[in-house]
Amino acid sequence: MQRLLRRGAVLLAALLLSAGCDSGAPPISTEEYQPPVDTDVSFPLDSTMYRLHESGEIRIGTKFDQPLFGLRNPLTGRPEGFDAEMGKLIAARLGIPAEGIDWVETVSANRDPFLQQGRVDLIIATYTITEARKQVIDFAGPYYVAGQSFLVRAGNPERIGTPEDLHGKTVCAVEGSASSTHFRERVPDADLVLFDSFSKCAQAVKNGQVTAMTTDNTILAGLRSRDEESFDLVDVTFTEEPYGIGVANGRKDLVAFIDDVLRTAFADGSWAAAWDRTAGRILGPAPEPPDLDRY
Ligand code: GLU
Repeated sequence: MQRLLRRGAVLLAALLLSAGCDSGAPPISTEEYQPPVDTDVSFPLDSTMYRLHESGEIRIGTKFDQPLFGLRNPLTGRPEGFDAEMGKLIAARLGIPAEGIDWVETVSANRDPFLQQGRVDLIIATYTITEARKQVIDFAGPYYVAGQSFLVRAGNPERIGTPEDLHGKTVCAVEGSASSTHFRERVPDADLVLFDSFSKCAQAVKNGQVTAMTTDNTILAGLRSRDEESFDLVDVTFTEEPYGIGVANGRKDLVAFIDDVLRTAFADGSWAAAWDRTAGRILGPAPEPPDLDRY
């Protein structure tokens, strides 16, 4: 009886959610893509990969509020998007199915500390490879290159076309994001307000509390896709944001393994297919895969 009730509640939630969907949002479903899991894996006994494979579990930090890259599905509680797909691809090559992934929500500012404190094994979260971050953690990748841009209110009432158009204006970004640092350097006299997540920053644009929000074009396009009537994306990028997969310092074996997973996925079409299933729905066909960094 309890099972029936629970199933009824899930169905009702699904109906309510689909009825209330914003335009552009795909219907919420409990189905999840599972890449083929490698069953015949063997790793050196003292490697990080062996430990992960033996445990049958991997903890991956990602965003839970970024459509197209990492957005929590309210029915399954699991994140969906291109970052989540990259995580499943890596887990599958370790012989770990999607159910073996323990997804941990991260925001921009806690990504480095979560890796340093060993709270997660990997971070895949629109995480730009920067020199400053490389001092404290390691990165595999990049697996995509984004660029920083702006989201403004629909109709772009203040005619924002370049970063310099924001001199003296109020702009929001997110604490601990490369976007806030870049923007501060580029337009030092703007009034920069910091939130802990991008969804809160977008809300401030929608409410007219700030003129614009600034971060990667990928994140902005994802937020806009959920509410096209409220937002315009400014068609300019002024940085390069190579997205890496964060690994705790000292796990060079895992970095090399992930680079190898990416190299294979770039070549066999599984990277492009993951893009097409997720971010590609809004951002268009998969670009050429980026060159992997050399460590
Ligand atoms: N890619 C930038 C960064 O890693 C901005 C997006 C984010 O914070 O997730 O800082």
